[in-house]
Amino acid sequence: MHCPACRTTTLQPTKLDDGLLAHGCGQCSGALVSLLYYRDWAERQPQSEEPALQAEVEGVNESRQALTCPKCAKLMSKFQISGTRGNRLDLCGSCDEAWLDGGEWQLLKALELSHKMPSIFTEAWQRKVRQQASEEARRQRFGRLVGDQAIARADEIRDWLKDHPQRRELLFYIGHE
Ligand SMILES: [Zn+2]
Ligand SMILES: [Zn+2]
Repeated sequence: MHCPACRTTTLQPTKLDDGLLAHGCGQCSGALVSLLYYRDWAERQPQSEEPALQAEVEGVNESRQALTCPKCAKLMSKFQISGTRGNRLDLCGSCDEAWLDGGEWQLLKALELSHKMPSIFTEAWQRKVRQQASEEARRQRFGRLVGDQAIARADEIRDWLKDHPQRRELLFYIGHE
């Protein structure tokens, strides 16, 4: 099997994590993971109750072009990981294999998603990602208008107002000078 991103490099058996085997590319550090094995591995992992760290992960690759499955040569589908990260996982639904670009496994771990990969391939997840992405775009648009600090303050106020029993009254009060 050849690397779907570099095309010429041959994939070699590798270990993505403790007890999780995959086929990796020595050139781009991408990896092909069988979801059949992955699900079995994920079930055996202890469930962490910790909230996501949101740590910055450096050096994550992202293949922008459509990839063809190294096993069956069909086009793979792209699934965005989150609304705030541009990274997308590639999936071959026929072979049940996922392709992770170099660094994407580390990114999944940092986002506490390394045990939940199949959820990313669902329509519900992708809908959430699109909502998150448009919310983020809107935030950036307004951030350019009023500055990041003002936006951060507005977010705080909005969060505080969200569940406030007199939310409508307070908004009415703010809106009237
Ligand atoms: Zn490669
Ligand atoms: Zn395939």
